[in-house]
Amino acid sequence: MTNIPPEIQSYKRTAWKPIIIEGDGALTASKFAGKPWLGKHEKWPKCPLCQNPLELFVQLNLNQLPEALQNEFGSGILQIFYCTNQFGCNPSPHKIQAFSDAHLIRIIQPERKKQRIEIPKNQDFFPPKLIVDWQKLEDYSNSEAASEFGIELNDELYEDNFPIEGDKLAAWPL
Ligand SMILES: [Zn+2]
Repeated sequence: MTNIPPEIQSYKRTAWKPIIIEGDGALTASKFAGKPWLGKHEKWPKCPLCQNPLELFVQLNLNQLPEALQNEFGSGILQIFYCTNQFGCNPSPHKIQAFSDAHLIRIIQPERKKQRIEIPKNQDFFPPKLIVDWQKLEDYSNSEAASEFGIELNDELYEDNFPIEGDKLAAWPL
């Protein structure tokens, strides 16, 4: 991070990168894919468009986020499901349309009793990845955004490095 031009230091934001391991965890754990927390009598959510089971993209236990983020997102379990129907209800989790019906975004407050969750069969779901920790990162807007602030950046130095790509929380959108 020593190459950051001093004039953009004030546009620095803190981002949090999930540290993941292969495998699923507790039903209330933060994870990508795998078994979500569902209500006691709740069935696995289906896509309202094609009726296929939705895939769990990410589940975040908001009560277990780094302290700095806890107030920002509230409490409970945030879940984002989306349709992976190859015929195209929603082709990419990174292109979830804000008003598409082919996904489900919600925050639930788990009751004490949990139920046995089975992953729907015959679905080409991603293997689960458990979020075990969060790494604090310094993130910066890309040079285009910076130039809107009147800052010209040396592209070679900078362009390829920010914003940090991949999954992260609370930082500059790509
Ligand atoms: Zn669908």
